[in-house]
Amino acid sequence: MNSRVEHIIREGRFDKERLVELLSCGAEDSKPIFLEAAKVKKKYIGDAVHLRGLIELSNICSKNCLYCGIRRDNKSVKRYSIGINDVEKAIQFAIVNNFGSIVIQSGEITSGLFARQIEQILIKATCMSQGKLGITLSCGEQSKATYERWKIAGAHRYLLRIESSNKKLYYKIHPNNQAHNFENRLQSLTDLQSCGYQTGTGIMIGLPEQSLEDLANDLCFMRELDIDMCGMGPYVEHEQTPLYMLRKHLLPKSERVFLTLKMIALLRIMMKDINIASTTALQAMVDGGREKALRAGANILMPNITPGCFRDDYALYQNKPGTQEEAEDSKINMDALIKRAGCYPAYGEKGNSQHFAQRQILS
Ligand code: SAM
Ligand code: SF4
Repeated sequence: MNSRVEHIIREGRFDKERLVELLSCGAEDSKPIFLEAAKVKKKYIGDAVHLRGLIELSNICSKNCLYCGIRRDNKSVKRYSIGINDVEKAIQFAIVNNFGSIVIQSGEITSGLFARQIEQILIKATCMSQGKLGITLSCGEQSKATYERWKIAGAHRYLLRIESSNKKLYYKIHPNNQAHNFENRLQSLTDLQSCGYQTGTGIMIGLPEQSLEDLANDLCFMRELDIDMCGMGPYVEHEQTPLYMLRKHLLPKSERVFLTLKMIALLRIMMKDINIASTTALQAMVDGGREKALRAGANILMPNITPGCFRDDYALYQNKPGTQEEAEDSKINMDALIKRAGCYPAYGEKGNSQHFAQRQILS
């Protein structure tokens, strides 16, 4: 074992330099990091894994992020928006199966029509579950008024990844224009916090030209922003995107997976009681990826409950798992993988962020 790694962990002072040291050590030397993350998770979170049924509402997007398979300029995508009847069926599935929460995710549209569509879904989901269903949104950057409106209609949590907290890198993976403005994304995150959402952010790991310093800064960024939830995963290439050109400069998949797991473990140690999602992108990179994330410190899983006929069209990256599966298959798979990770599925619980609850008590 590496005594320097053990020393840093014992001291518990995670500044940028020390985080870079921890991120740069190999598998054997990283063992104390994973051991500590497991200890922290056991103490602050326990073995419960909370489930969020994921509804990929629409792949229509006004933005052109250079990494994303459903970006506006990818003309080979068959665009869809799920109608209210199918959305209701998916919500019903989550209620019947006692998932406790749903996530509604979509491409970014800022029209009044879209705002109204989401509002109707929120009202419906709240009514159908008599307020018992936790509702997370992940529908991109919106005006503060829209965030407020959706909060009133029943949304509790919002996930908006910063993707990278390094502004220079941000503009290497997004077009440098007003629609993809870095400051606006930051502003959206603070707007969400001031609207009273449990606020989540996250990044992609293994982006072209991303350094360990960038990743260490991302961890510090999340701590400074005092987030309640995090969803981060490896960057996975997609051949119909501009970033695919840089595929030869990427870290091998196994290293991207290892770094992702280490980032999850470090974030768990640094922010002990936040919710951390085990993301689908990990599964696309390696068999058992989500299970490994639960072991590393994650406590949230998002079984895909999007109606089967739409799944193939929400291809953010290659090899996205579950696109052929119906919702029922996903549930069985989730139960098995949670058990393999030594945890249990916390059916029927909303699984709110303890970090958020704690802040409410203190304020
Ligand atoms: N449109 C909203 C937004 O961008 O915030 C929400 C949906 S978007 C598809 C959800 C997340 O997918 C993004 O925040 C991004 O991190 C992730 N994503 C997109 N393309 C990806 C890729 N090629 N590899 C890994 N993650 C990707
Ligand atoms: Fe649209 Fe989100 Fe994909 Fe960017 S990441 S292109 S905003 S769906």
